[in-house]
Amino acid sequence: MIHEILPVGPLQCNCSVIGDETSREAIVIDPGDDIDQILALIAKHNLQVKQIVITHAHIDHVGGAMKLRAATGASILLNQNDYALLKMLDMQAAWIGMRSPGKVEVDDTLGQSDTVKAGSLTAEVLHTPGHTEGSICLYFPAENKLIAGDTLFAGSIGRTDLPGGSYDKILHSLHDRVLALPDETIVVPGHGPLTTIGDERESNPFLQKS
Ligand SMILES: [Zn+2]
Repeated sequence: MIHEILPVGPLQCNCSVIGDETSREAIVIDPGDDIDQILALIAKHNLQVKQIVITHAHIDHVGGAMKLRAATGASILLNQNDYALLKMLDMQAAWIGMRSPGKVEVDDTLGQSDTVKAGSLTAEVLHTPGHTEGSICLYFPAENKLIAGDTLFAGSIGRTDLPGGSYDKILHSLHDRVLALPDETIVVPGHGPLTTIGDERESNPFLQKS
C-alpha cells in the first residue's frame, strides 16, 4: 500500500493519498487545500485517483475537493447526513477567515458498511456521527489502518460544539464502532500525529470508563 499523509491548509488537515502498488489506483481522503501538492504526490507515485472521500463536510477537509475532481475526474463521496453542512461552506469560511471554495458537488453518499476500493485495497466505511452528523471513518482491515477524520485524535476527540455536533453521539460512535477495532490498528487522525487504537483505549482521557 502506498500511503502519503500531507497536512494541508491553514488548519493542517491530514490529507491521505492511498494507492495500490499494482494497479496504481488511488483514493484521496480529505483534500482540504494545497491541491497542487497533492497532485504532485499523485504524479510522483504514478497514481490514478478513482475516489475522493470526505470524512465530514468541514471546510478544512473538503475545501479542495472540486479542484481535485476537476484535475482527476474522480468522484466525490460524502455521507448524506453532512449535505446540509456542505451548503454552509461560505459561513464556515467566514468563521475561520478563509476564502470560500465555492459550491462543492457530491457524486455519491457513503454509509455504514459501504466499501471503497482502489485496486486490491478495500476500506470499510464506519458511520461515526458526533463531530458532525455525517462523520465517517475509513477502515482498511488488511492494512490495520483507520483514517479517523475528526472523530478521534491522539489523546483527544473531535469537538462537538459546532452545528451538528453531539457529545453523546461521538462517545457512542467511539465506543461502539472505533474501539471495536483491534488494538494494533494504526489511527490517522484528521489533524496531528498518528496513534493506535490500543494507545487511545488505554490513555485517551475521553475514553476511560470511570
Ligand atoms: Zn471537522
